[in-house]
Amino acid sequence: MKIGILGGTFNPPHMGHLRLAEEAVFAHGLDRAVFIPASVPPHKDTKEIAGSRHRLEMTRRACRGNPCFEVSDVELTLEGTSYTVKTLQLFAKDPDNEIFFILGADSLREIPTWRDYEELFSLSSFIVVNRPGTDFETAWAELPSSLRLRFRQGDGFLAHSSSHLLIPSPVKGLDISSTRIRSLLRQGLSIRYLVPESVRTYILENHLYGC
Ligand code: ATP
Ligand code: MG
Repeated sequence: MKIGILGGTFNPPHMGHLRLAEEAVFAHGLDRAVFIPASVPPHKDTKEIAGSRHRLEMTRRACRGNPCFEVSDVELTLEGTSYTVKTLQLFAKDPDNEIFFILGADSLREIPTWRDYEELFSLSSFIVVNRPGTDFETAWAELPSSLRLRFRQGDGFLAHSSSHLLIPSPVKGLDISSTRIRSLLRQGLSIRYLVPESVRTYILENHLYGC
């Protein structure tokens, strides 16, 4: 099984997440995409973040109906703060799985701030989707040279010394972010068509993000 893992805060999940997973599944021949909401995110302002229970439920609602999508609560049930390295260690244990961590180029840029980030590339391959504002080349050029030196150039990918791949994806992310959605909600403006309808009604019914 080729499994794509999409980690994130999903605060809230939006069409950008769904569309990037949908396109990545097809572009990279994955069998499924697993959405993994993070618990207290290590490098985000916690004031603005909806409770885990809400983010998990919204992600479940967003993924409902797509047979290739799955939601895992593994990071929410593990003790303590969630770290991608722990999650990948868990998934990498199953020898039947080939793991591809899917992330936006903005997140690749931030990777040096993640716990044990050098180890991440020994555990899984990475698929990097362009996000408006940040492309793969920019993010790659900014990574520490100690990390870049661990890769050799292949045909359309970079191969890590562990043999896992770092793959610049042809998939282009939509210009949608959770930050923008939270800001619209705070201003009392519409978020229709930026998130699935089931997520929008959940936010309104539960008065999330100050609405
Ligand atoms: P926030 O604005 O709160 O940071 P976000 O929209 O970036 O939210 P996250 O939950 O932080 O959403 O993102 C999870 C993962 O999905 C990250 O790897 C991020 O780069 C990627 N991602 C999110 N939205 C997009 C998008 N529109 N295009 C491409 N990648 C995206
Ligand atoms: Mg983000």
